[in-house]
Amino acid sequence: MELSIIIPIYNEEGNLSKLYDRISNVAQSLNVSYELIFINDGSFDNSLSIITTLANSDKHVKYINFSRNFGHQIAVTAGIDNCTGNAVAIIDADLQDPPELIGDLYHKMNEGYQVVYARRKSRSGESFMKKFTAKIFYRILAKITSIKIPIDTGDFRIMHRKIIDVLRLMPEQQKYLRGQIAWAGFKQTYIMYDRDERYAGETGYTYKKMIRFALDGITGFSNLPLKFATITGFIVSGVTFLVSLYALYSRFVSKDFVPGWTSLILAVLFIGGVQLICIGIIGEYMTRLSANVRKRPLYIVDESNIATKD
Ligand code: UDP
Ligand code: MG
Repeated sequence: MELSIIIPIYNEEGNLSKLYDRISNVAQSLNVSYELIFINDGSFDNSLSIITTLANSDKHVKYINFSRNFGHQIAVTAGIDNCTGNAVAIIDADLQDPPELIGDLYHKMNEGYQVVYARRKSRSGESFMKKFTAKIFYRILAKITSIKIPIDTGDFRIMHRKIIDVLRLMPEQQKYLRGQIAWAGFKQTYIMYDRDERYAGETGYTYKKMIRFALDGITGFSNLPLKFATITGFIVSGVTFLVSLYALYSRFVSKDFVPGWTSLILAVLFIGGVQLICIGIIGEYMTRLSANVRKRPLYIVDESNIATKD
């Protein structure tokens, strides 16, 4: 198998036939053996039946149907675990990522790269809030991580088998694939593209999912938040020590003291606030640690027409 194309699906009934046509055209024009792996991530529309119909009429079509919605990154992971191509592309199902670009990504990869990602020159049809928060987030993340996670880039990309082998070695539960791929190293490059509007349907990425995803990116690839807790902890302790020296001095030496309710309550509140922040940060890591200690399977396959590994 030369080319695997991984397509996560969450309620994409309006996009599937158009997507299938466009992707199949590209794959055929490349003149290589290929497979399309659809991962149905708990859609509650007609996506699954459209996919099974496609699979019945085209042997290039493989699918994995999750027992419920496990999230976009997990859906892509299932594709990564089960693909067989030398080159593996990931693409969204909503036609925001133009399938024709897979040809360009593939040719670029064959120039001797292991990863070619598609970087967004522009994005149409997305809310100001989404573009703004994404822009800020990717820049902050780039600042606080030691590895180079490309900015303005989603998961639309092509990867060499070597990268797939690395990804399969990373059992962590909180998948931030673009971080893991950057972490993997090898030769990586990008091409620029204009991101289209969603063809049909609505985004499956709610703000809740986006915030979770951003936290996974930060906690998975940066320890700065933990260091922040330690640093503020030291600063606050230092200040507290000086203030207590002063308090003891004014109480016992200068005997010039006022029952200082204001300063007291301010200090209590301040320290309380800092403690809460720190506990919160530690909590974020703890939840992730405990998830990994549990070693639950990342997803449960309901049915599939490929022999899945578990
Ligand atoms: N998706 C998924 N599971 C989810 C949410 C989304 O598999 O829980 C898929 C979705 O079908 C699409 C891709 O992930 O193929 C990107 O999602 P979407 O277009 O909703 O995100 P956006 O482009 O708005 O960030
Ligand atoms: Mg989209």
